[in-house]
Amino acid sequence: MNIFRTTRNAALLTLLPFLTFSQIALRPKPKPGFETRIKTYVDHLEIVDTHEHLMEEADVAKEGPIDFMHLLFHYADDDIKSAGMSKPEFAELLTDKYTVIEKWKRIKPFFEASKNTAYNRTVLLAIDRLYGIKDLNDSTVLPLSQKLRESYNGKWYDYVLKDRAKIKYSIQDVEKSRSANPMFRYVEKFDAFIRIHSKQEVLALGKEYNAPVSDLDSYIAMLAGAFQEAMGRGIIGVKSALAYHRTLKYEDTPKPVADSVFARLMNSPGDKTFAFNDVKPFQDYVMHQIIQLVRKNNIPFQFHTGLQSGDGNIIDNANPSHLANLFLQYRDVKFVLFHGGFPYGGILSTQAKAFRNVYIDMCWSAIISPSYSERYLHEWLETVPANKIMAFGGDYHNVEGTYGHSLIARAIVSKVLSEKVRDAYLTEAEAIDIARRLLRDNAIELFKIR
Ligand SMILES: [Zn+2]
Repeated sequence: MNIFRTTRNAALLTLLPFLTFSQIALRPKPKPGFETRIKTYVDHLEIVDTHEHLMEEADVAKEGPIDFMHLLFHYADDDIKSAGMSKPEFAELLTDKYTVIEKWKRIKPFFEASKNTAYNRTVLLAIDRLYGIKDLNDSTVLPLSQKLRESYNGKWYDYVLKDRAKIKYSIQDVEKSRSANPMFRYVEKFDAFIRIHSKQEVLALGKEYNAPVSDLDSYIAMLAGAFQEAMGRGIIGVKSALAYHRTLKYEDTPKPVADSVFARLMNSPGDKTFAFNDVKPFQDYVMHQIIQLVRKNNIPFQFHTGLQSGDGNIIDNANPSHLANLFLQYRDVKFVLFHGGFPYGGILSTQAKAFRNVYIDMCWSAIISPSYSERYLHEWLETVPANKIMAFGGDYHNVEGTYGHSLIARAIVSKVLSEKVRDAYLTEAEAIDIARRLLRDNAIELFKIR
């Protein structure tokens, strides 16, 4: 009996290598050194950054004192607050109320408690690679602050974004402001025209655009005028971040219904705020009008999907599956689903696969979770045509974050593609071709960047 069991176990052990590599090897085994060659290619590739909120370099000092908090005020702050620091306490650290050492003493317990997250790892990576500072601690917080201040010399953005991050073009989501930096391209949001709950808000828009608004037709005319102005400013796409504030489900409201909601709004006292459900038909109608303008101007539409930054948001509002009716109704509009849909990666697989007009943009996702990004990039490469996936958008307010993020995004692309080559799913040449699409060519083609 014992002998039999031993023999059977030995037989199972010899089978094990075959059992653990269950994927079919489609391509020939790669030549040794492929991991290094793929990594070298990806690391040296000049890339397109599909999404940023970078302020002008000259404006950084105007926002507040430049010290180590400059690296913690965006994204890192979410996890520091999630670890327990209150919002008012954090906000004080962005002023000059305290010295650098006093600020560090206050934030240290919360940074220590949250430094495991990818947001905070990105900060640590950036200070290591840009300044050779190996950790954020009692002894580095002063020299780091000093180095940061000295870095803002008017050439810092070019050094970080071009020389170090090797970004060729970077698409900015910064409202109407424009920079002289020739690498920047722009998208704009028209969310303010949708996110209406009161007559006051309508009148404020009318004032901003110098347009008399009396009924829905004049409101839509104002929207069309604003859109045309933005086209004149050279936008290459439209973005919507409304999943922060409402569901992504936009019904096709009949015009008479939208008319009557708008009339009710305009006949109300100016300070009355309507509940979301009461204004939703009007909001939905306006979104459809914006999509029609996007279609007419033949530019892509970027949608925030998945995780909302900050606290207190409802994740189901941002579920990309709510958008399906728009994909079906507007087959000739290219919809770009942001942030790898975190945590709805599987839904993105089905949507980008099933709808020819749906694209995946992994902006922000590499620093939300590198392992999620790896996992889903594997799945997307198995399910979605490679011309519809974009693998990097920094989504930062500060360039140091963009740079750290770019390193993580490149590492994810190299790792996933190497694993696909190792498993003989792709050849090395196919992997190189896909890397170039994901990090550069797809964005250039989709946004017609010249
Ligand atoms: Zn963003």
